[in-house]
Amino acid sequence: MRSHLLNGLTAEHYRRSVTEGVERVAAKLAATERPFTGVAVDELSPRVDAIDLDRPLGDTAAVLDELEDVYLKDAVYFHHPRYLAHLNCPVVIPAVLGEAVLCAVNSSLDTWDQSAGGTLIERKLIDWTTARIGLGPAADGVFTSGGSQSNLQALLLAREEAKCDDPGKLRILASEVGHFSVQKSAKLLGLGPDAVVTVPVDRDKRMRTVALARELERCLAEGLVPMAVVATAGTTDFGSIDPLPEIAELCDRYGAWLHVDAAYGCGLLASRRYRYRIDGIERADSVTVDYHKSFFQPVSSSAVLVRDASTLRHATYHAEYLNPRRAVREHIPNQVDKSLQTTRRFDALKLWLTLRVMGADGIGGLFDEVCDLAVRGWHLLAADPRYDVVVEPSLSTLVFRYVPAAVTDPAEIDRANLHARKALFASGDAVVAGTKVGGRHYLKFTLLNPETTPSDIAAVLDLIAGHAEQYLGESLDRAS
Ligand SMILES: *Cc1c(COP(=O)(O)O)cnc(C)c1O
Repeated sequence: MRSHLLNGLTAEHYRRSVTEGVERVAAKLAATERPFTGVAVDELSPRVDAIDLDRPLGDTAAVLDELEDVYLKDAVYFHHPRYLAHLNCPVVIPAVLGEAVLCAVNSSLDTWDQSAGGTLIERKLIDWTTARIGLGPAADGVFTSGGSQSNLQALLLAREEAKCDDPGKLRILASEVGHFSVQKSAKLLGLGPDAVVTVPVDRDKRMRTVALARELERCLAEGLVPMAVVATAGTTDFGSIDPLPEIAELCDRYGAWLHVDAAYGCGLLASRRYRYRIDGIERADSVTVDYHKSFFQPVSSSAVLVRDASTLRHATYHAEYLNPRRAVREHIPNQVDKSLQTTRRFDALKLWLTLRVMGADGIGGLFDEVCDLAVRGWHLLAADPRYDVVVEPSLSTLVFRYVPAAVTDPAEIDRANLHARKALFASGDAVVAGTKVGGRHYLKFTLLNPETTPSDIAAVLDLIAGHAEQYLGESLDRAS
């Protein structure tokens, strides 16, 4: 069994084993014709159930064969140009290399004495990101597991900075299409059930600043404390970007912490052409970025950034065995002092290798491509009488609905759209997402693959219409 421990004696076993795995995945990627096989839960779960975890196979090749059967064969492949569903990106090769290196070395970024250069690399990437945002010389931050954790940490800092003893009085203002992790964070932070005030959006799904001003005013009138405004720079559903400069103005006026949730829109930080769309982000007190959404990084890779490094102290605790106070005096960089996590992956290495191989322009250029593709897709949808499309894209998302001229019952149209999405998933030909707009069911493309072409989009729209028509035809038959 010792031969399975990775060390100097097993270097050859490591090389062979990982190479075998890489060969399988490479072959899979090359041979994948559809983003999904359409496998059903009922079909796949007996295969997983049948495996006896107490009877190991021992041999890597046999285990990879088994893995092929229970996972690789039927996985959902984000690299396929017809995977158009959620905020998942195809990943860049330098980042995948980073993943392989970081898990083999297995540094833990909580303390200097578990990471050394890893800590310095993470810190440099945090500085790089805060400089791109324009947060100023006192900025800092830390890598996190994802946007949800980044939002939680940012709101923790905001709560502490609000210096209010009555958590029942604290309010967080976010748009009605803000991310649900804001609600979850409020709950975790012990705020009351009414803590999150949702601010309405305009036609383009951007927060209405007039309504925000009204809500801030109302908070003051009612003796409540607006501890934070969450502006979303790239909403999950629409990619819409809240008007950051106007919101920053209001935060200044009312003394509210400005958190910008740029989990999705952060890709624009690397874009030469579209960076201006998030102008105003530099006025934030804290920012969430998800490199695993728009920087083409593997899950997980995310960070929370703050304007004032000293606010990170609200997440600091000292343990004698790990990060004693004297380490601070001795200027030993222990990242755990800034993090909600303790043991923590060296995710930063993926972004490091990406920037060193491709450069920021390389990443930004890929994100620009998907933004341009979304505009092409929007024109296709707007010109197509079968479809109703919601907003012109600010990033790379399209929300639309199949609306046949002959059907007037909106509930029947809802059912046709729901059916089309399910049938498409079961066919495996393409994967699309869904959401609700104004109480009605819509379909969604989140375009993050530069390999997707306008003709892929056109073809998927034909597939959707085909499934929806079939449903409506059968539904007529049922009725008659
Ligand atoms: C995806 C997303 C999040 C959550 O990020 P995770 O990495 O999935 O935890 C938060 N906010 C927005 C706007 C998002 O799109």
